[in-house]
Amino acid sequence: MVTHSLIIRRQYAEIVNQRIWRSNLATYINFYTMFTLRITNSSLISSNRYIKQLFMRYTFSVLFTLLVTAVAFSQDYLNVDFYKITDGYVIFADNHELSPVSVQVDLDLKNMKSTEGNNKIFVIPAQVTNYEITRVKIIDSRKASKFHVNTLAGLGDHTQKEYDYDYPYDLPYDSNVTHKVVQGYNGQLSHKHQHALDFNIPSGGRILAARNGVVVDVEDRNSKSCGHPKCNKYNNYVRIYHSDGTFAEYTHIKRGSAKIRKGDTVAQGQHIASSGNVGWATGAHLHFEVFLMNMDKKVTVPTKFRIAQGMPPQELIEKKSYKKNY
Ligand SMILES: [Zn+2]
Repeated sequence: MVTHSLIIRRQYAEIVNQRIWRSNLATYINFYTMFTLRITNSSLISSNRYIKQLFMRYTFSVLFTLLVTAVAFSQDYLNVDFYKITDGYVIFADNHELSPVSVQVDLDLKNMKSTEGNNKIFVIPAQVTNYEITRVKIIDSRKASKFHVNTLAGLGDHTQKEYDYDYPYDLPYDSNVTHKVVQGYNGQLSHKHQHALDFNIPSGGRILAARNGVVVDVEDRNSKSCGHPKCNKYNNYVRIYHSDGTFAEYTHIKRGSAKIRKGDTVAQGQHIASSGNVGWATGAHLHFEVFLMNMDKKVTVPTKFRIAQGMPPQELIEKKSYKKNY
């Protein structure tokens, strides 16, 4: 018995924090996280009936094997963990991110059931701790039970479909300046099936926030560029989370030009970075897009811009130039 209890203690000691690590893979999977958590009731591995009963009495003396099968990570501050209750476990999350995080939860259950359902996305609000995702409860306490959880997590509310289409975005540059939209929505060069805009802002030109929000990610350390998607990995960008659940991305910014950091609140019109020729680009410009997330996919959405005082906001058109008259 002593031996077994030592084993259990040792196994407990092997539990590691499931902090999600960071990687620098391609942008679209940068928002994407995957890890596996496997929990096995140790009564399954005990052949001695007495020991088995004892384990049952100490409900779920468990052997944890934690498999981290992550392919890509983005959240620095999301933890998914669990604690024991009388008849099972509570699976919970701590989200220290400044936006909600969505977690796809897939449970493999043996003699257990999940109170909040299975194979679905749970949305964890921004900056919460001990947020209960679900409880997995034992069905028949006389039998062995186990559960195995696969989770996939990403920034944003991945169940969201609606957003504020009529919000008036500001043109992302200085007053009285004119820039051309060299590529618009569904542009044939690199915006096929995307609601993205390329403004021909020359290198060093000031980029201003088009809308209020919170900075959730900044990359401005790259300097390489080329006219091929393989250079996407060198993109510099600022990502800002908006109050309607959308994100904006300002891409190709000049190396070292970011004026804001992750966690900062930005106001519409605030200088956030300078234009550059970095990443998948053949010349300095600003790539701007607004999007929702759907697990591994960005879903870019159309938005309207204020062009001049007194004019209703409107979508921008490819090849047209826009003077910021405000
Ligand atoms: Zn673009």
